[in-house]
Amino acid sequence: MQKLVIASSNSGKLREIGQLLQPLGIEVLPQSAFNVTESEEPYCTFIENALVKARHASRCTGLPALADDSGICVSALNGKPGILSARYAGEPRSDERNNQKLVDVLTDEADRKAHYYCVIVLLRHPDDPQPLIADGSWHGEIVLRPRGAGGFGYDPYFFLPDLGKTAAELPAEQKNRISHRGKALARLVERISEETL
Ligand code: IMP
Repeated sequence: MQKLVIASSNSGKLREIGQLLQPLGIEVLPQSAFNVTESEEPYCTFIENALVKARHASRCTGLPALADDSGICVSALNGKPGILSARYAGEPRSDERNNQKLVDVLTDEADRKAHYYCVIVLLRHPDDPQPLIADGSWHGEIVLRPRGAGGFGYDPYFFLPDLGKTAAELPAEQKNRISHRGKALARLVERISEETL
């Protein structure tokens, strides 16, 4: 079994990624199992932040490493909150305050189109010049009143016109299949099957 360290301590992500990669003969391990500290995310693009997290985890463990970075981008805000999604309303991080800030800035805005974005990178070693990269987007619009109790983060405000529901109203299994992260993960599995790690 090939070992792969994941630069995340989110247990939901670890489980989901682990289940998808196990059939490919890959065992995923959290970076916390190696006492790897969280790296800085100093850049202004998702891909750069994902790369720096994966490189840090690979350098600290000597193993191939995978990292993702994701967020929500609002068209009328030039892609904000974007890479700042987790801390849009500042520290300490709070989904409730982030959502309130988003509603406040969009109250008088007619165009509330938004999309979630996720990018995943896999480095075979810290200096890998050719990382495997997969991404996915999920398009919808921001509503000013929350709906649904599932998901996390911005989900109660992320409305999908085709489904007539917010992301927080979808069963987890359906969300995982059609979301930005679900699409990126499916593409990553394809990329891994095409390449040797
Ligand atoms: P991370 O990449 O897991 O750190 O996510 C960054 C931030 O983007 C999260 O803290 C959320 O605010 C937001 N985000 C990313 N994906 C989702 C999602 O599927 N639902 C709701 N919020 C999300």
